[in-house]
Amino acid sequence: MNTRRHFIKNAMSLGGLLLGGAFIFSGCGDGQKPAATKDKKPTSCSDLSGISAEEKDKRKKLGYVEKSPIPDSKCGNCKLYLPPGKDEHCGSCSLFKGPIEVEGYCTYYAPLTEGE
Ligand code: SF4
Repeated sequence: MNTRRHFIKNAMSLGGLLLGGAFIFSGCGDGQKPAATKDKKPTSCSDLSGISAEEKDKRKKLGYVEKSPIPDSKCGNCKLYLPPGKDEHCGSCSLFKGPIEVEGYCTYYAPLTEGE
């Protein structure tokens, strides 16, 4: 038999469920993609916005420049050069983090030898 007490009890339970559900879904974000899936690729090879101060300092200490002063010695033909990945236009270096130019250069330049 339905009584007024049962009705109030059921109504409160349903309200609790609805509030709980709203709370759970409110923690699911604002409908945008999570930050981890956003494109973090640099807009240019000079963009160091995502690079730590320590890595910027390392890059500076190694004397990295975006345009090699020695025409035949450049990142693009250095052993430590890591070519750009798919949909990327900047390479990287094994010695420090961040984008580098294929035409760049640093004091640690190590020429590729034949067969490498
Ligand atoms: S070691 Fe220097 S020259 Fe070689 S890829 Fe790295 S930054 Fe370029």
